[in-house]
Amino acid sequence: MAELLFREDPYLRSCEATVVAVHGDSVELDRTVFYPLGGGQAGDTGTLAGRRVLDTRKGPAAPDSVLHILEPGATPAVGASVHAELDWARRHRLMRLHSALHLLGAVVKAPVTGGRIAEDKAHLDFDIDMSRLVAAEIEARLNELVRAAVDTRARWITDAELDAHPELVKTMSVAPPRGEGRVRLLEIPGIDLQACGGTHVANTAEIGALKVVRIRSEGKRNKRITLELA
Ligand SMILES: [Zn+2]
Repeated sequence: MAELLFREDPYLRSCEATVVAVHGDSVELDRTVFYPLGGGQAGDTGTLAGRRVLDTRKGPAAPDSVLHILEPGATPAVGASVHAELDWARRHRLMRLHSALHLLGAVVKAPVTGGRIAEDKAHLDFDIDMSRLVAAEIEARLNELVRAAVDTRARWITDAELDAHPELVKTMSVAPPRGEGRVRLLEIPGIDLQACGGTHVANTAEIGALKVVRIRSEGKRNKRITLELA
């Protein structure tokens, strides 16, 4: 079980850690700043003991085991002390776009059916009629919320508390990580409150200006709104 440092401080760019397991070219550490693919957010890249980390995924003992997938070559041995460092510029874009999707979910009042965050763009899918989605209006409202410069905050509730408040799970296709007895909430006061295990910026102003680059139907219940950083 790894200590997931990004949960308490998503701004940590590097850490010292010990290798606890090796599976081929994938390495598990006792602690990590690397976010594994999940909740729609891409896995982190970076370096570990000087080798490229190509991707990060949940490990066999998820949610608290993390596989750092290294470029092929000599893998550090179990027990080795290593320096792990994120591609921070990429991660920070992911944090900005991830936080932007929380704003988008607040602006568009409809059930969310899916979503994805990549380093250059992010989208949410909504169960809504296309005629209600006007790109210019959505973009203007998003940028108002960015300029409002609202602090975000994370806190934990128990699984039982979450069960008592099913409205906190907004994305039907992305259930929050369960099985630890507790679930992480991300609150943007006055704007959004939902269960989310991803990494976010500390204040909406840090997202910067947003563009709605596309609104497209992906099926009867999936109207996809794609954002980019302006
Ligand atoms: Zn989130």
